[in-house]
Amino acid sequence: MTRLLLTNDDGVGAAGLTCLAAALDRAATTQGPVDYQVVAPLHEQSGCGQALTLFRPLRARTVREGWFSVDGTPSDCVNVGVHALLDRPPDLLVSGINYGVNLGDDVTHSGTVGAALEGRLLGIPAIAFSQEYRKAQPADMERAADLAARAIVSLLEQGIPDRMLLNVNFPFDPPRGVRIARLGRRPYRNSVVQQDDPRGGSMYWLVGKPEPERHDDTDAAAVRDGYISITPLSADLTDREAISEEDGVLPGLVGALR
Ligand SMILES: [Mg+2]
Repeated sequence: MTRLLLTNDDGVGAAGLTCLAAALDRAATTQGPVDYQVVAPLHEQSGCGQALTLFRPLRARTVREGWFSVDGTPSDCVNVGVHALLDRPPDLLVSGINYGVNLGDDVTHSGTVGAALEGRLLGIPAIAFSQEYRKAQPADMERAADLAARAIVSLLEQGIPDRMLLNVNFPFDPPRGVRIARLGRRPYRNSVVQQDDPRGGSMYWLVGKPEPERHDDTDAAAVRDGYISITPLSADLTDREAISEEDGVLPGLVGALR
């Protein structure tokens, strides 16, 4: 039977993960119930990207049957899960559902997407889910979880492509539909706030507001317009155009370093 590994970056007790597991418990495929195990960070790790913990040991605890916490990052969880905790490698890695969108430039900062990328590096197809929220208005994680479970069941029924790596974002309101969209640029404005440190000197908060580029084919535009965005990602960051450019900066660098 197809086995799922669930993880997230909001922590093992986060609503997005518990709602998703509950939705999977209610779902079934023609093969039977959806088979999953959970390995998720003990504490929230949002914004840690694909970081690994290399200079201290990691400790795993059983939360309940089939659920483990690891005191590290989401990518730590994927590695410890796949290589140590699970009795066999998973066929699909599911990360989320993150509380808050992971759109455009966010994907390299996101622990949610980072875990999916880590799964992909280990040869496991992966899908990351995130839910938009608004200030002072809780997001409907139950609805997101039902949608995510439907998507997962559909993947299990269709068969999962080996190289699959998908980033899915749910809009705040009930979705109007689905758009396959590219990652958009989404730089943050006023992203560092300086304050006086009561212990002396200054301290800095990384906050800021994203300013998405104004093109309708982006993931941010899809979610802005009330659609679910699905973005297929590539784990290969190589700029293939630059490799073949004869008039770019590379020939000069090659000459300088020869
Ligand atoms: Mg998060």
